[in-house]
Amino acid sequence: MLDADFFRRWMTVTAAAVDREAERLTALDSPIGDADHGSNLQRGFGAVRAALDEEPPVTPGAVLTRSGRLLISTVGGASGPLYGTLLRRAGKALGDASEVSREQLTEALRTGVDAVRQLGGAAPGDKTMIDALVPAVDALGDSFTAARAAAEEGAVATIPLRARKGRASYLGERSIGHQDPGATSAALLIAGLAEASG
Ligand code: ADP
Ligand code: MG
Ligand code: MG
Repeated sequence: MLDADFFRRWMTVTAAAVDREAERLTALDSPIGDADHGSNLQRGFGAVRAALDEEPPVTPGAVLTRSGRLLISTVGGASGPLYGTLLRRAGKALGDASEVSREQLTEALRTGVDAVRQLGGAAPGDKTMIDALVPAVDALGDSFTAARAAAEEGAVATIPLRARKGRASYLGERSIGHQDPGATSAALLIAGLAEASG
């Protein structure tokens, strides 16, 4: 079973991964965006880490809803409301249970990913974070490590795609040949699950 400590670790290791990879995320956002994805997420997950340290929520659902709200309020870019919605809606789906199973987490994240799809209007293949998140949630029923592999594969598979949502879509054909920054950060978020569980 996964308790509030696990969920706090998940957010903390994700914040550390975002710090480590911030330059790469911003570099990916340079040819097909506005070169701020790394700094956007560093600001957001930095705020999440500080808030969870200061006043640790005691349920898994509260960790995610608090984190989601903070991402929405601190990240200026498109990714803030999208990641914020993912975590807030997943947290809401977990309710006030003190422990949840991996199966319950999988269903909660599916609810969160559906909310992101509704908010941003992106479908799989549109070259967005959805391309990492959907296969990850599908594989999460098997294991955290399967989900991590699926998310990383999904991120790399955005390279040949033409962007249909977000800033990269303004480039049309010229978005082809670049890995999507948001799919790349989504793979970091999912890798955080495996790291927090190991
Ligand atoms: P901004 O584009 O506002 O500068 P970021 O650079 O932080 O925001 O995030 C860009 C990422 O957000 C993209 O790489 C993409 O994965 C994701 N994204 C943008 N728009 C959408 C959308 N409508 N649906 C899903 N993901 C999106
Ligand atoms: Mg950007
Ligand atoms: Mg921006």
